[in-house]
Amino acid sequence: MTTAGTPDEAGLGANRDLPVNFIQDIISNDLKTGKVRSIHTRFPPEPNGYLHIGHAKSICLNFGLAKANNGLCNLRFDDTNPSKEETEFVESIMRDVRWLGFDWDDRLYYASDYFQDCYDWAVQLIKEGKAYVCDLSAEEIRAYRGTLTEPGKDSPYRNRSIEENLDLFERMKNGEFPDGSRVLRAKIDMASPNMNMRDPVLYRIMRATHHRTGDKWCIYPMYDYSHPLGDAKENITHSVCTLEFADHRPLYDWFIENVRPGSEPHQYEFARLNLNYTVMSKRKLRRLVEEGFVNGWDDPRMPTISGLRRRGYTPESIRDFCERIGVAKRDSVVDIGLLEHCIREDLNKKAQRVMAVLKPLKIVLTNYPENQVEWLEIENNPENSAAGSRKVPFGRELYIEQDDFMEVPVKKFFRLFPGGEVRLKGAFIIKCEKVAKDAEGNIVQLYCTYDPDTRSGGPASGRKVKGTLHWVEASHAIPAEVRLYEKLFLVEDPDSDEDGTDFVTKINPNSLQVLNNCLVEPELAEAQVEDRFQFLRHGYFSVDPDSKPGALVFNRIVSLRDSWAKIQKTAQ
Ligand code: ATP
Ligand code: MG
Repeated sequence: MTTAGTPDEAGLGANRDLPVNFIQDIISNDLKTGKVRSIHTRFPPEPNGYLHIGHAKSICLNFGLAKANNGLCNLRFDDTNPSKEETEFVESIMRDVRWLGFDWDDRLYYASDYFQDCYDWAVQLIKEGKAYVCDLSAEEIRAYRGTLTEPGKDSPYRNRSIEENLDLFERMKNGEFPDGSRVLRAKIDMASPNMNMRDPVLYRIMRATHHRTGDKWCIYPMYDYSHPLGDAKENITHSVCTLEFADHRPLYDWFIENVRPGSEPHQYEFARLNLNYTVMSKRKLRRLVEEGFVNGWDDPRMPTISGLRRRGYTPESIRDFCERIGVAKRDSVVDIGLLEHCIREDLNKKAQRVMAVLKPLKIVLTNYPENQVEWLEIENNPENSAAGSRKVPFGRELYIEQDDFMEVPVKKFFRLFPGGEVRLKGAFIIKCEKVAKDAEGNIVQLYCTYDPDTRSGGPASGRKVKGTLHWVEASHAIPAEVRLYEKLFLVEDPDSDEDGTDFVTKINPNSLQVLNNCLVEPELAEAQVEDRFQFLRHGYFSVDPDSKPGALVFNRIVSLRDSWAKIQKTAQ
């Protein structure tokens, strides 16, 4: 893979505007043969948590396919399981889809909008002898279902009369039976080699308040039943889902044929996104939030879209990532370094460079006039001349990073040490003359001299020294808090249950480091939440919503070192 372009830019696609993946091939063919006249997809999240980067892949695919083919994509909340769903999640999902750059226009649907249809269709199936009320317990149903190698056994209730089934199903709906006491099942084939076809459950009794229908229903349809019917109702043509549903496809087709014959939807499966060093199941993300391992769903260490947004990721970088990982039919694990590479590439072009000192060490320039400040012009982005330049104050008292000074320098230490010289970025060459220490022997400040001729454009501007340091001028510097993040997990595959340990035991205890005494240049005084900058030599940072006037908080989005690009280069 080249780092420089999408497959389209590389000219690999026959039509440069179309995505390059096997689902697009199917769509192109369906349009060519006239199997469909236009395409219609949907993104069907269950509102039981916040969306994560895996969902972003599905969003980019579904909305992207529709857009590229002049089709439509619906947003449909799959809210058939009332005990787990909340309005907070519905709102966060809509915000995240929009933020990613997609729009469902007026096509916002809820699976719960179809509860009455699902019920009516179930009645129709009963009337046709294709569904029955079963009184077996959940365990009995499982036992009767057989195994992959043995056929199942018919339920003793399988041959109830149509009249009895109609009566019992209506009474299930009316709340006459306790939760879990009966279910409605499709009558398909208990000996089918596909377990999903062995009389799957269509309806269960569950007294739970639904976020939209309240207590109107006490029976709820199963996903496998409601989903194809929702697709048919919305005239979906290509129903794209992840691989684990491949075995459910015959059932999907069975429902379409028996309930909505002649409608168009077909199911296609693609490989879900797996990312190393994180977990992605909503159940696990929910535990991280509820048990306080992170500070909410939008904690910048979370792989949620809201977490990535708060961290400072751009929608462009996430869409680029989804394009680069492609759409495959086989599961694989993507290196998190690729995601980081995408945000670096995006911000390298866009982000203004500024100077910020995270662990300050004071410097006094003994030969610089007291109370004088001069404003030096420094470029905003060497990668983009249109970004222009800004004025940065320089004066007698400055700060540099503690790490940029060593009293006894190690070999090849090209930064500052007693008697040594460095260039201050965009300014002058300075020399360290003396180290001041407190009673305990800690270094408190440095006395240096500067060479006035070494300013850019000055008579000795060409004089070379080995190191260039970033810095801020003391009287104009703005205090800030900076939050540095590491991976949330210590191991590549925290999800793996192989060693029998709970995934939370693999959390990195040092995933968040808060630095409270940072200083940034005055250019940042007006910075707004979500603004992004490159702090020279430190990486890319964004303004966190915790910021208050005069008390800026920055998140490190990503450091500058791009191990992923390096790996790609050596592999070439
Ligand atoms: P989770 O296990 O995280 O709860 P889910 O599949 O139950 O995921 P849904 O809300 O049902 O979550 O997912 C909505 C859509 O997003 C589905 O079409 C699903 O296939 C897709 N999706 C979920 N996770 C991924 C992933 N990791 N990669 C790609 N698509 C995904
Ligand atoms: Mg799901």
